[in-house]
Amino acid sequence: MRIELDRKVCQGHGVCLMTAPNLFTLSDEDGLANQPTNPTPEEFEDEGRLAVASCPELALTLIEQHTLIEKH
Ligand code: SF4
Repeated sequence: MRIELDRKVCQGHGVCLMTAPNLFTLSDEDGLANQPTNPTPEEFEDEGRLAVASCPELALTLIEQHTLIEKH
């Protein structure tokens, strides 16, 4: 899965940081969240989903990636 951050919408509350401390950091420069690493490391997917659901500004978008199985 991937998490996309819209920094134009982010207000820097840090809720994402509290719910997913392994994925999010706040920028020292403008206080807004930094774009988390994509794809989201598997071990942090649960907290990533929680952070997306918890963002009060809806600045985070969850993109589930499905593995395509090619048929021959
Ligand atoms: S919770 Fe949402 S609005 Fe707040 S810092 Fe994180 S991404 Fe930005």
